[in-house]
Amino acid sequence: MAEVLNHPQTATAAETAKQETPATTDGFHLVIDALKLNDLNTIFGLVGIPITDLARLAQAEGMRFIGFRHEQHAGNAAAIAGYMTQKPGICMTVSAPGFLNGLTALANATTNCFPMILISGSSEREIVDLQQGDYEEMDQLNAAKPYAKAAYRVLHAEDIGIGIARAIRAAVSGRPGGVYLDLPAKLLSQTIDAVKGKQSLVRVVDAAPRQLPAPDSVKRALDVLKGAKRPLILLGKGAAYAQADAQIRELVEKSGIPYLPMSMAKGLLPDTHEQSASAARSFVLQEADVVLLIGARLNWLLSHGKGKTWGGAPKQFIQVDISPTEIDSNVAIAAPVIGDIGSCVSALLGGMDASFPKPSAGWTGAIAERKNKNLEKMAATLAKNPSPMNFHSALRAIRDVLKTRPDINVVNEGANTLDYARSIIDMYEPRKRFDSGTWGIMGIGMGFAIGAAVTSGKPVVAIEGDSAFGFSGMELETICRYDLPVCTIVFNNNGVYRGTDVNPTGGKDVAPTVFVKGARYDKMIEAFGGVGHHATTPEELTKALQEAIASGKPTLINAVIDEAAGTESGRLTNLNPQSTAMKK
Ligand code: ADP
Repeated sequence: MAEVLNHPQTATAAETAKQETPATTDGFHLVIDALKLNDLNTIFGLVGIPITDLARLAQAEGMRFIGFRHEQHAGNAAAIAGYMTQKPGICMTVSAPGFLNGLTALANATTNCFPMILISGSSEREIVDLQQGDYEEMDQLNAAKPYAKAAYRVLHAEDIGIGIARAIRAAVSGRPGGVYLDLPAKLLSQTIDAVKGKQSLVRVVDAAPRQLPAPDSVKRALDVLKGAKRPLILLGKGAAYAQADAQIRELVEKSGIPYLPMSMAKGLLPDTHEQSASAARSFVLQEADVVLLIGARLNWLLSHGKGKTWGGAPKQFIQVDISPTEIDSNVAIAAPVIGDIGSCVSALLGGMDASFPKPSAGWTGAIAERKNKNLEKMAATLAKNPSPMNFHSALRAIRDVLKTRPDINVVNEGANTLDYARSIIDMYEPRKRFDSGTWGIMGIGMGFAIGAAVTSGKPVVAIEGDSAFGFSGMELETICRYDLPVCTIVFNNNGVYRGTDVNPTGGKDVAPTVFVKGARYDKMIEAFGGVGHHATTPEELTKALQEAIASGKPTLINAVIDEAAGTESGRLTNLNPQSTAMKK
């Protein structure tokens, strides 16, 4: 059928005459054809009723179908593929529970401004709406709405092309996000005339149109920046997503303004860049008088732009963002510049002539001094070689290996593992670091790792806390099945935060934060034919990681860390007041 659909003109007259009924196509083929027509050639998903045949057909038609063990991780893979490519990542699930599992990833994608489309099969609408108890009955469209940027349902085969076009546009235009597309089982087997079907498909033109900033907003921003005594540029993951790498670099270097990358913007400029103020983060946030935000929100990760973190004194903010309603969301923004980052940064650059003032030597000098002091302190901490290994000595080993391979993708989650790795592991290239993101969540690990490996074809090193790893650990089988070059390093300290808590009642149950002591995560991957390493020293860790990268094989390194290392909630102790209170 798809043959006819794709090449109706190639049928010979005899063949055409032989056909008793007009050639038809169906919902299954139209979904696949619509995706392919828009260069969406990979589906991350998990099969079952009613989408198994859709997955089979997708593969038969030359698409890649990457099958997972849990839909949340398929969704996370799709989301990170969207972030890396500016094309919506596609996740496909079954109805009700499969859909709900995928919904977690869809909500996370929307929160992080990653474009993805969750396509779920669903039960018959007539039965669902009358609540008559269908197989896996659920009103998925309405369940998805609060957690998605947009949600659509297609009821007729001739609307599939439009439905997918709308989903693509909604996912990538303006502020990117997650879109839900509901496909009832009955739709997939609906047949329509093949020619009509082909005509109903839409190739989306200019899905994410450039949005030029208003010239007066650019002038206002430049005026504020000119008046700055201690300017700072803050780059967020929106800036990395925008793929305006050259313009952003030019803006930073031409202006001479020190910059801070948010965690997923690390590598947009190499972390070793002399204008990077990462090692003096607290100092610059407190002391800067004008802050130019580029694709970064003043949310909890930036203490909402106020309070102690920002030094208390009022600052002036310039904010470059595609979403007008982001402006003034937490503090007053003196100069909003609304548009896509590429266009906005180019416009700012256009207005910076040779007379544009450079930051004073006093400001850059003070930052350099603070940076050097902090880097020296960090170097001393990293140089220590405690036994057992701690977070710092293990991360030093990983840092030194990754320095030799700037092309490697890094996935990172955990509490302490995330906090320490974020500051110790330098990034050198854009869109290579994928982490817990806006929600600060755990569970993204293996999904992001698979998505990054499939999308880039490059190795991935996933630096995981043992607790964080647990959420997606079964996807090791997926990594092995597709023979992906993913090396997972589990920082094993026997528990959540650390492994030393005790049950105060003396009862048989261990404390809520404690795991099985001495667990051998490396054995898990061996069960699926991957390579396991057990590392108890930085030297063993270095060797195992080097081997893993050189082999390109699915690998897991069980990195044994001092079980007493690690602080409650990592850096978020203040968000866990109950536990602090209990300790008193
Ligand atoms: P971080 O967590 O790194 O600070 P956020 O996710 O909070 O970054 O912020 C990303 C911001 O970037 C969002 O406000 C989003 O609207 C914006 N954004 C995303 N893509 C673009 C783009 N192409 N052009 C302009 N702004 C964008």
